[in-house]
Amino acid sequence: MKKKCFALLACALLLTGCAAQAQTQEGFAMATIVSQTVYAPSGDILARNYDTVRVLENSLSKTLPGSDIYRLNHEGGTVVFSSADTARVLESCLFYAEQTGGAYDPALGRVAEAWGIGGDNPRVPSEEELQKLLAASGYEKLRIDGDTANAGGAWADLGGAAKGYALDAIKANLAEEGVTDALIAVGGSVYARGKKAGAAWKVGIRDPFSGAADYLATVELTDLCISTSGSYERGFTQDGTYYHHILDPKTGYPVQNGLVSVSVINENGLLTDIYSTALFVMGLEAGMKHAEEHGIDALFVTEEKKIYRTDGFDYAFTLVGEGYRIEG
Ligand code: ADP
Ligand code: MG
Repeated sequence: MKKKCFALLACALLLTGCAAQAQTQEGFAMATIVSQTVYAPSGDILARNYDTVRVLENSLSKTLPGSDIYRLNHEGGTVVFSSADTARVLESCLFYAEQTGGAYDPALGRVAEAWGIGGDNPRVPSEEELQKLLAASGYEKLRIDGDTANAGGAWADLGGAAKGYALDAIKANLAEEGVTDALIAVGGSVYARGKKAGAAWKVGIRDPFSGAADYLATVELTDLCISTSGSYERGFTQDGTYYHHILDPKTGYPVQNGLVSVSVINENGLLTDIYSTALFVMGLEAGMKHAEEHGIDALFVTEEKKIYRTDGFDYAFTLVGEGYRIEG
């Protein structure tokens, strides 16, 4: 009996010898967790993907001295980028800034810096300070020409775009390596490629009112990205008021419009990252209208635990959070 089992096992090993196995890795980059599950014959692709995220971070970070974006913000004048990705991302950011009427603004770095959210010493800037910083900010000041750019005195901040772009770069890696099935998360941005054991990937959307491990809902995705922007993600409380990291480009203050999170699903990772932020800024009514007009699949969650979805948002949506009401 023992011999027979061994023979069967050996056979199975032979059959699956070079087949794709689930390879997993968890790392930290872009100030968040990077987690990967990849079906591949070896784990080499994990290291390649992780490296891709870190290389991008080294160009796109606004806090790492020497990065393209750091130099753009601090050297003044026209800067020659060392990575071709930087101009590519910035160009896309400007496109979406215009398309969203400035709700997504990649040049709010000075304002974000004043709040210091996510850093060790967050604070509430004065109204006067915010007005001054806002006047020196805004995507209209950015000029890009080939691999050179000038921020016009504003500071670029790609915190709402880099993670989505990283997913697109990983998608290219996976395609190149012939990997058909994978699930990659860079913070609140997730890419589901192919399937898991023959079925679509089931991806959880975080419950804004619960811990990081609790889901509001699950969706089933194949070859799609999903990004969620939530006020719960980064913030601080002072004198009983909660201040979070998604800023209203018109006022310089954290957005307060009754929303707690927005999720966007699309093939394009960068689009999902940018649009989850942009629709959050627009608010439920204007955001819903904009999303429908631009064919963007989005889900809005309000402070009152009401859930609203665009017409195209299906993806086998299954509510698991408690106390929520689906309104549309
Ligand atoms: P997260 O970084 O948690 O994934 P988002 O994708 O929503 O969240 O991006 C928020 C980040 O983008 C902020 O931390 C800040 O760096 C930047 N940001 C804040 N407000 C805006 C805005 N209106 N437009 C573009 N970027 C913004
Ligand atoms: Mg975003």
